[in-house]
Parts: sequence; structure tokens; C-alpha cells
Amino acid sequence: MTAHNFQLVLDDINDAIRPLLGKEGQVASYIPALARVPAQQFGIALRTRDGQEAASGDAAVPFSIQSMSKVFTLTLAMKHLGEHLWERIGREPSGNPFNSLVQLEQERGKPRNPFINAGAIAVADRLVTQGNAKADILALVSSLCGEAVQIDAEVAQSEADTGFRNAALANFMKSFASLDNDVATVLDVYFAQCSIRMNCEQVARAAAYLCRDGRHPRTNAPVVSERLTRRINSLMLTCGTYDAAGEFAFRIGLPCKSGVGGGIVAVVPDQLTLCVWSPALDATGNSLLGMKALEMFAGQTGMSVF
Ligand code: GLU
Repeated sequence: MTAHNFQLVLDDINDAIRPLLGKEGQVASYIPALARVPAQQFGIALRTRDGQEAASGDAAVPFSIQSMSKVFTLTLAMKHLGEHLWERIGREPSGNPFNSLVQLEQERGKPRNPFINAGAIAVADRLVTQGNAKADILALVSSLCGEAVQIDAEVAQSEADTGFRNAALANFMKSFASLDNDVATVLDVYFAQCSIRMNCEQVARAAAYLCRDGRHPRTNAPVVSERLTRRINSLMLTCGTYDAAGEFAFRIGLPCKSGVGGGIVAVVPDQLTLCVWSPALDATGNSLLGMKALEMFAGQTGMSVF
């Protein structure tokens, strides 16, 4: 498809979604700074493997990327630690809410996968051990999207003030000696990565290496190997959307990673990356209209990994 045709598809989806804004779903309220975000917003942007871009709606409005950041931290950790990463983190869907404690206790402090909160906190711990985690994450994401991205200090503070469950998960892992570093240091990195602000256009660009065999969207240098890229995409498909991963595979059929800020990034391997954003969430914590928009995109273009 040409950039012009993609633009028509995105405009068509935007036209269909806008009348639905504000009708269903709830903005995440457990992080006070996110509860203030107006629900009636929708953006969609894509970038093809060869760099063509299209966007519609509120695609240039920045939002809190939240758990979408876990794709970038996982990328850094897989690159630096190789197979050792999997000594402390599993690769199976959790089938449980993203912040559940129960499974972590049953599995003796080893998180099911790197995308649930416990798993992402364990990844953040490994990045703290490796280097200057916050700076490394910001440097990677900024380089990928070609613009300096920032941490929203207000959101990070709001998460730190109310992140009781995340503190519980981190302390619990620490009790099993599954974290190398201080709980406070690790949580500081985790809250910072979740509080990065980006818009749909930037996210679609930053994720582009996932549809280009791991190659950087601007420099073409390898960000990660082709093999690791396939693995990241497989984890997104099986574990990227909380306990709705089966529903996403069924309705959309693409590797996706969502965040409670209402963003979802999707990958069409070898073809394009796509980001949708609408703040109102469904009961599983995924953007309700973002999911609907992705379903429309897959339906209209026929793009799917299946
Ligand atoms: N910062 C959020 C939390 O830890 C991220 C949740 C998400 O986006 O899934 O609760």
C-alpha cells in the first residue's frame, strides 16, 4: 500500500472512532496524574518499514507511554544479558492482572513474563546492574524516534506516591533474592520509564526496528539482532496486552504492547509499526477504542501474522 492509501485508512478509522469517544471505558484512576487526562481523545500513526509515515486524529498529542516502555527496556536487557535474562524471568502469558501478587508467590518470586509489572521491575533491576538505567532508556528511545523524549516528573511522582502494589511486588522479589539492587532504586527507574511522554507518531517511529529485523529506523544499524527481534515480537503477541492477549490475537492478530495511559503499539513484521492512543480503558486495562481501531486496521488492510 502507498502512504496515500495508508492515510485514507487512518482517516477512515479516525472518522469511525471519534463519535464513540467518551461513551465507554474509564481513564486509569489508580495513578492520580493519569486520572486527570481527558478521555475524549484518539490518535493513530504508522510508519512503514521504508520510512513512510501517516497519522490521523490526536496523533501529535503527547501521553504517558506507561507499559509500552517495557518493550524498550526488554530490548536493552535482551541485548545486554542474552540468555541470562531468562534465569529470573519467564516467557509465558500470565492470565492474571498485570499487578497481581498471587502468581509471584506461587512461583517463588520469578515473574511469568517481562511485561507484567513484576517482570518489568525485574528487567529494570537488571538494567540498574548494567549501567545508568534511566539515561540508557532515554537515550535508546530518543535515538529511535529522532527527538529527545522526556520523563514526566509529575506522573513519576504520582506513581511513586501511590505505587503500593509495585512496591509490594518489588519487595516480594527482593525477599526471594530475585533483585540485585535496592527496591527504591529499582522502583525509581520503573516509575521513570512508565512516565515517559511521547505521541503516537513518535512511538510508531521508535518501535520501527521491530518491523525491520532489528535495524534502527534512521541509521539502519542493528538495535538488536533479527532473532531477538522475532523474540520480542513473539512476547508482545503472547504477553503484551495483560490478560487479554488471547483476545488481541483473536481480534487483531498482531504483536501489541499496551499501557494504562491508553496507548497501544502494534507491529506488522517486515511491514510497519502502528501506534493508537485513546485514554479510556476496558476492564483488562487496555485502551477500549485503541483496540477497536487496531481491529479496524487489521480488517481493512488484511494485515495479520496469521
Ligand atoms: N506504571 C504502571 C503501573 O505500574 C504501568 C501499568 C501499565 O501500563 O500496564 O502500574
